[in-house]
Amino acid sequence: MTGPYLGLVCRHWIGAEHRHCRATEGVRPFLVGPCCPLHTPAALAGKDEAPATSSLPATALPASPLSDSRVADARAISSGKRRSSPTAYRAAQAAVHKTT
Ligand SMILES: [Zn+2]
Repeated sequence: MTGPYLGLVCRHWIGAEHRHCRATEGVRPFLVGPCCPLHTPAALAGKDEAPATSSLPATALPASPLSDSRVADARAISSGKRRSSPTAYRAAQAAVHKTT
């Protein structure tokens, strides 16, 4: 057997046979411990295996409210209420306090 989980052994307890499964083929780590395909939590629950990765691309996720708060507002920067570099401060002041 080759693969990323080489060396794992299924630790599922087969109660009827009073022994651990100890299979090494296709064993992957789970929260309950390493499991062979026959003894994954989904297989024991009689369900299909979950897909390996999410089907949603990262760009489909909604933007974090934190990123919204970081959008710099020229008015806030020019008033000094929002911290910024001196260059950004002067540029914001020039944008807000336009002289005719
Ligand atoms: Zn097993």
